[in-house]
Amino acid sequence: MRAAGRIVAGVLKHCADLVAPGVTTGDLNEAAYTKGKELGAEDFSFLDYHGFPGVICSSVDEVVVHGIPGRCDYRGGKVADRTLQEGSLVSVDFGAISQGFHGDSAVTVPVGEVSPELKELLRVGREALWAGIRQVKPGCRLSDIARAIERSIRERPHRYGVVTNYVGHGIGRRLHEPPNVPNVLTKDLLRNDLVLEAGVTIAIEPMVCLGTAKTKTLSDGWTVVTRDGRPAVHFEHSLAVTEEGFEILTSREDGGTTH
Ligand code: MG
Ligand code: MG
Repeated sequence: MRAAGRIVAGVLKHCADLVAPGVTTGDLNEAAYTKGKELGAEDFSFLDYHGFPGVICSSVDEVVVHGIPGRCDYRGGKVADRTLQEGSLVSVDFGAISQGFHGDSAVTVPVGEVSPELKELLRVGREALWAGIRQVKPGCRLSDIARAIERSIRERPHRYGVVTNYVGHGIGRRLHEPPNVPNVLTKDLLRNDLVLEAGVTIAIEPMVCLGTAKTKTLSDGWTVVTRDGRPAVHFEHSLAVTEEGFEILTSREDGGTTH
């Protein structure tokens, strides 16, 4: 899991550094493929996952998750490439396999200079992920993570949307394993709550919207957009529950992040 996580971290850092006005989502997809191979990825978690044609998901502005990068052959057609514009946001979600295990992480990056409103949205999304991560230790419940994420978003003066129909997940030999790791507290979660033990590996991935959290999927069957067309951010890490607390497997900090 550490080996896969390191590859994912290296690729996401590379892609995030490349983001600039004029770069396209197809450029990011190719960069992720090349860097992933260079770092020793055996395979890419998303490529061909239920037919997904990309190595990354690239989700620009109103696209919440699962955006298809440009220049991917898709159902015999060509997916239009999307050129990143100054003032936009792009989320890059990436997964890779090493020694049979997956890593999965996402980061949303500003394209050039963005408005104060979008800077704040980025900060709220990043802090929501961290609020969830800080709960992780042996004995913590899925509801502790969800409550912390939801609170950190809801306590803001601006009324952000918190996406509820896409959630985090267990991760290991498969990209998506039980349990679901929700980002909001629901009665259903409390009924099916689980205690996490050391050795469990999960991906936490809050999605925060500037406006409504209501989403729809475009006719390509993948691209999830906000119904009001306003931007959203997505931040994700894969982590392990350890005796001490947690270890972020996809940390982009040198030396990893352990608590
Ligand atoms: Mg992901
Ligand atoms: Mg994930």
